[in-house]
Amino acid sequence: MGKINTKVTDSVNFFMGNKPADLTAKYGSPLYVYNEKILRERCRDIKNLVTYPHFSINYSAKANSNLAFLEIVREEGLNVDAMSPGEIFVELKAGFKPEQIFYISNNVSKEEMQFAIDHNITISVDSLSQLEQYGQLNPGGKVAARFNGGIGAGHHEKVVTAGKKTKFAINPENIPEFKEILKKYDLKLVGINQHIGSLFMDGSKYVEGVKAILHIAKEFDNLEFVDLGGGFGIPYEKLNDQPRLDLASLGKELDEVFKEFAAEYGREITFKVEPGRYISAECSVLLGTVHAIKHNHEDKYAGTDIGFNVLQRPIMYDSHHDIEVYNDSEKIEDITVVGNICESGDIIAKHRMCPEMHVGDTIGVLDAGAYGYCMASNYNNRLRPAEVLIRENGEVQLIREKDKLEDLLKGMKGLND
Ligand SMILES: *Cc1c(COP(=O)(O)O)cnc(C)c1O
Repeated sequence: MGKINTKVTDSVNFFMGNKPADLTAKYGSPLYVYNEKILRERCRDIKNLVTYPHFSINYSAKANSNLAFLEIVREEGLNVDAMSPGEIFVELKAGFKPEQIFYISNNVSKEEMQFAIDHNITISVDSLSQLEQYGQLNPGGKVAARFNGGIGAGHHEKVVTAGKKTKFAINPENIPEFKEILKKYDLKLVGINQHIGSLFMDGSKYVEGVKAILHIAKEFDNLEFVDLGGGFGIPYEKLNDQPRLDLASLGKELDEVFKEFAAEYGREITFKVEPGRYISAECSVLLGTVHAIKHNHEDKYAGTDIGFNVLQRPIMYDSHHDIEVYNDSEKIEDITVVGNICESGDIIAKHRMCPEMHVGDTIGVLDAGAYGYCMASNYNNRLRPAEVLIRENGEVQLIREKDKLEDLLKGMKGLND
């Protein structure tokens, strides 16, 4: 095989001897393939981030909430975040205990809050009005709150979640009112959290954000934890040798900040982080098949079965995903790789230099494990793909079946049903 065709997956022995085309022949194309060993490695990277003893990692399950996937994350000793009762439900199924789950709510109904209260799950509220709602439902209870430290970061406007232009979190100016509501309902504030945004590759912005939230933390006396959020980036441009996030130096800086804070606060509180993508992105390759090659004016297109119903990130955030081509081509050419959905925006990669593709080739979209399957839909009444896990011994295990045609009718009622 030509070098660049499989450069990235070869470098990490991703398929462990399994042939991509055999996998799609058996489980269908497209197909989400996960590598258990890589997933476990990413969990351990973050576990070893700091030496500070009271450190908890809450995997942000919205990035990938497959049951088997969550079970592995739990085995690695991570806790989880939840963004909805549905995530709480799946996380409990995966064996997480209520005290290992942190519900970061955003504009939720009374019923959703009550669901978390009934399951003894700590909730973080996102506004004064949601704190009121919490107080009414659970007077005397424990609660956390999300604050906006004023620092935002992210790879796209849609994922910057702090700073001046965001729907998220409580503005520190409102702390006096916030404290009044705590008092009114006899609530105990156990923690505060923030999430500055997704996919930072330079730790300095994160540290700046950490300092900002710790500044806010000093306004409260009896905190048990401060949660610093996620957003740890991964290099999506591996074929261009994009460097990794420097976790070693980030960890060192965080250690210093944590120790300094503990000294000033008078107590070693727990610090939490919430990585989503960092844990889940790199352990997955999305396989697909080329079904058409064509030229439209100057441009050459490869038409595949990877529509944006299967992987939303390129159309939603203009995201880059590297592409591998599992054939022997040595010729590299400029090609636009598209899906099978009836919309012109259905593009996986525009004008990409790739090994020459032919009808019938299997291709791989790399780093697809975060915000991949969980954002997949049945748009165009397409079936969502299967998910398989390559175990540490190289065996392949089905961890989610491909949709069936009948699934498209689930819950639907015809006029005479
Ligand atoms: C999405 C999200 C995360 C995870 O973000 P990543 O970029 O995947 O690390 C963490 N915390 C909160 C509150 C989020 O909304």
